[in-house]
Amino acid sequence: MEQKTAIVVASGNAHKIDEIGDILKGYKIISMKDAGFDGDIVEDGKTFKENALIKARTVAEALHVTALADDSGLCVDVLGGAPGIYSARFSGEGDAGNRALLLKRLEGLDDRRAHFECAVCMYSPGGKTLFGVGKTYGRILFEERGDNGFGYDSLFYSDDLEKSFGEASEEEKNGVSHRFRALEDLRSKL
Ligand code: IMP
Repeated sequence: MEQKTAIVVASGNAHKIDEIGDILKGYKIISMKDAGFDGDIVEDGKTFKENALIKARTVAEALHVTALADDSGLCVDVLGGAPGIYSARFSGEGDAGNRALLLKRLEGLDDRRAHFECAVCMYSPGGKTLFGVGKTYGRILFEERGDNGFGYDSLFYSDDLEKSFGEASEEEKNGVSHRFRALEDLRSKL
């Protein structure tokens, strides 16, 4: 039987691990927990790519395996790209707090252009390091629409889908998402 190359995903998010498995079909995708990694990772990079590299390298070097990590966030034009790499901790009060703070920062502003960005990194100890990047464009709504997804999804109107990510099905979102595009970009380099 053909042996699939194993890749350990440096994430604890089961949803992400499934999505990666769907896109990188020829590989055996294993979560870092199942691979035996339970250490802390300090994400102190200045860019999505740096953070993805830090996560992938930490897990790859600890377990002596090929590891894949992603880092993503929302970048709002009129806020100079914020919250960007700080998307998860924008308000310090979780997803709902982050959305409320974003609406507050954009109060009275008509330029709502924004994009989600994702960088993925595949790191093999002593081997090569590959990156993939992906973006998906849209604008920030004046109020939440839809309950699907997570994070900023209900506030993000997708130019591709012509509805908010909160209103989109998982399949619809996965077909145009920044994470999907970053993984496709990486796959094209494998
Ligand atoms: P991470 O890359 O999983 O650490 O994501 C960072 C943060 O960016 C998340 O906590 C969300 O706030 C935001 N984010 C990233 N991708 C998405 C998405 O697809 N939808 C909504 N929010 C997202």
